[in-house]
Amino acid sequence: MLMKSDTPAGQALPDEEGTPVSVKIRERLAAAKKRFNANDNIAAFIEPGELEKLLDEVEGKMQGVLDSLVIDTVGDHNTQNTARRVAKMYLNEVFKGRYVEGPTITEFPNAEHLNELIIVGPITVRSACSHHFCPVIGQLWIGVMPNEHTNVIGLSKYARLAEWIMGRPQIQEEAVVQLADLIQQKTRPDGLAIVMEASHYCMGWRGVKDLDSKMINSVMRGVFLKDPNLRREFLSLIPKKSSS
Ligand SMILES: [Zn+2]
Repeated sequence: MLMKSDTPAGQALPDEEGTPVSVKIRERLAAAKKRFNANDNIAAFIEPGELEKLLDEVEGKMQGVLDSLVIDTVGDHNTQNTARRVAKMYLNEVFKGRYVEGPTITEFPNAEHLNELIIVGPITVRSACSHHFCPVIGQLWIGVMPNEHTNVIGLSKYARLAEWIMGRPQIQEEAVVQLADLIQQKTRPDGLAIVMEASHYCMGWRGVKDLDSKMINSVMRGVFLKDPNLRREFLSLIPKKSSS
């Protein structure tokens, strides 16, 4: 007679009804026809208490990866809790921007009628590439050209919005567009410019093993697109980037 075995490592932990929590979340996303790419936020589809269950599920899968890498996580004291640590790091830290709602930002009317170029930065970027899950570390600068109808948000709030967008597996080109869309939607400025410069560790640790290469990209919107002088002013005011 066959004995029913315990849940093998690496298999999703089923809940009371036998359905892994990730499957339930996926079903809700599918029902709502919502995209759930690596850099999409899915907080609205996670019910209270489910993030904890997701943590257990990811831990189980990570343990499976370690097992398949033939690492003795029982005998090797260094890796005994690695599966749990990595699961926590993904869900609660480096990819948190996928699983939690965006920061609450209070927008104020532009009472002072500010209409001068505002530059915020450098804001530290901590992310990971969607291709390899390797760190992407860098800086970004934001230029805002307000008008009298533009909402004003505190300078530190730009950093919090950036942290939320970057706290997901990202593609640098898509990350700056997501951030631009978010800031645009919150503040409605006449113009918005973002420059991001980052090291991609998948180029240093593996691949071409080039530790010095950085990727710089930008988005320019509104008056920054139309007015080359304003664009030049913004670019001249952000500190000279290391690789330029
Ligand atoms: Zn990569």
